[in-house]
Amino acid sequence: MTFKELGLIEPLLKAIKDKGYTKPSPIQEQAIPVILDKHDVLAGAQTGTGKTAGFTLPLLQLLSSKTSKNTKPNIKALILTPTRELAAQVAQSVDDYGKYLPIKTAVIFGGVGINHQKALLRKGVDIVIATPGRLLDHIEQNTIDISHVECFILDEADRMLDMGFIRDIRKVLALLPAHRQNLLFSATFSDEIKKLSDGILNNPKLIEVARRNTSSEMVSQVIHLVDKDRKKALLSKLIKEGNWKQILVFTRTKHGANKLSQQLELDGISATAIHGNKSQGARTKAFADFKAGAVRVLVATDIAARGIDIDQLPHVVNFELPNVAEDYVHRIGRTGRAGNEGEAVSLVCVDEHDYLKGIEKLIKTSIKKVVIEGFEVDPRIKAEPIKAGGNRGRNNSSSRNSPKKTDTRAPRDNRNKDKKPFRKDNESKNTQENRKYKLSNEGKKFKESSNNSKFGSAKPNSSRVDNRQNRQRKPRVQKD
Ligand code: AMP
Repeated sequence: MTFKELGLIEPLLKAIKDKGYTKPSPIQEQAIPVILDKHDVLAGAQTGTGKTAGFTLPLLQLLSSKTSKNTKPNIKALILTPTRELAAQVAQSVDDYGKYLPIKTAVIFGGVGINHQKALLRKGVDIVIATPGRLLDHIEQNTIDISHVECFILDEADRMLDMGFIRDIRKVLALLPAHRQNLLFSATFSDEIKKLSDGILNNPKLIEVARRNTSSEMVSQVIHLVDKDRKKALLSKLIKEGNWKQILVFTRTKHGANKLSQQLELDGISATAIHGNKSQGARTKAFADFKAGAVRVLVATDIAARGIDIDQLPHVVNFELPNVAEDYVHRIGRTGRAGNEGEAVSLVCVDEHDYLKGIEKLIKTSIKKVVIEGFEVDPRIKAEPIKAGGNRGRNNSSSRNSPKKTDTRAPRDNRNKDKKPFRKDNESKNTQENRKYKLSNEGKKFKESSNNSKFGSAKPNSSRVDNRQNRQRKPRVQKD
């Protein structure tokens, strides 16, 4: 199957060629014709599958016949994403694929000034890519009109719900015209997502592609059992002695991310942190420096790193295991990409053994454990409950205002039995093909060989507080 055979028009084919894509990815093969036929779509796909082009290309094609250089456009498509980074990436894709079409776009998210966004909206745009919080700011200030939207796209709907955006989504839905096309993308398929999609989608076509490979043969996973207060020293040793050049390190909390990056700097290893408390400018710069190789270590929390597309990342380190087993899968999925070998290293102390059990249960694998000489575990140290930090979930209602509480809860995958991976009743032939699929981009290849259709049984427990965005919407939810 070629992009041309999918019925795409010449300006899009030219833009695709510029990107270096040689053939459509499975989600693109399935989604493009269905969207061009103006069906609603419920798609199970996550970052890394090519889903953005899967909805952006047909959307651009549908809108291309409706644009005119001479009139001020109405907003005809609204794409909602959970995070600023994802919004920026989707906007970049819309710009890239739409570069030979006279389509105007605006990306609107918080953490940056609102005036430039207002000016863009005043001039008129065809497509808006937005995070819910800032979109509602514009709605409240009457600086956006979404009453002409013909196509509504909810990207990473499961994350939206996990981040507590449901009420914001409902507010937005209430302002959209009743007659419209709807596309909903989600990596997991829970009862909540089903309820949401039932309320939004009209007789949707179901599309599923395998989740990006997570316990791939391309990713070697190892656990170093180590005492908590020796983790930093062990990490420095691994980086220095292994001569690692580009390392994405995950911590559970924002505070932990800051502290670790500072400590690594003191050890002579260039490092920077990204998390929700940093301004958007600082996050963008930190990420750009890391991508360009100017900074060796990027320390991130799960939410901050989500949606970011980094190719060829050789090392992912779990400085702390996530309290949500599925996040382990997301984290290690950032290495071993682009057909390259990747290494996922987890530093695990005695407090985290329950988290480790939850992860191994989820991935149905016992991960290799290696003790590094000089970092042997002190058997006298007893496990202590892990304190909930920046990743407290929205379900933890006390998390917003009360002091930190001890998190003695079971790993999330055990607590969310209703969450299932997105899956149709019968696994399609396409799905099997997806598992072997390799996305190639400008000579790079992504390996897709998922064996983890069970992944997705857990719900991330992540929540951050952003007082600025929530000042008019109570009680507050996390915004990114
Ligand atoms: P996404 O899942 O939309 O985040 O896309 C993941 C990556 O795949 C992005 O870097 C895209 O540029 C790339 N990509 C999307 N479609 C294709 C394709 N057909 N061939 C090669 N790479 C692609």
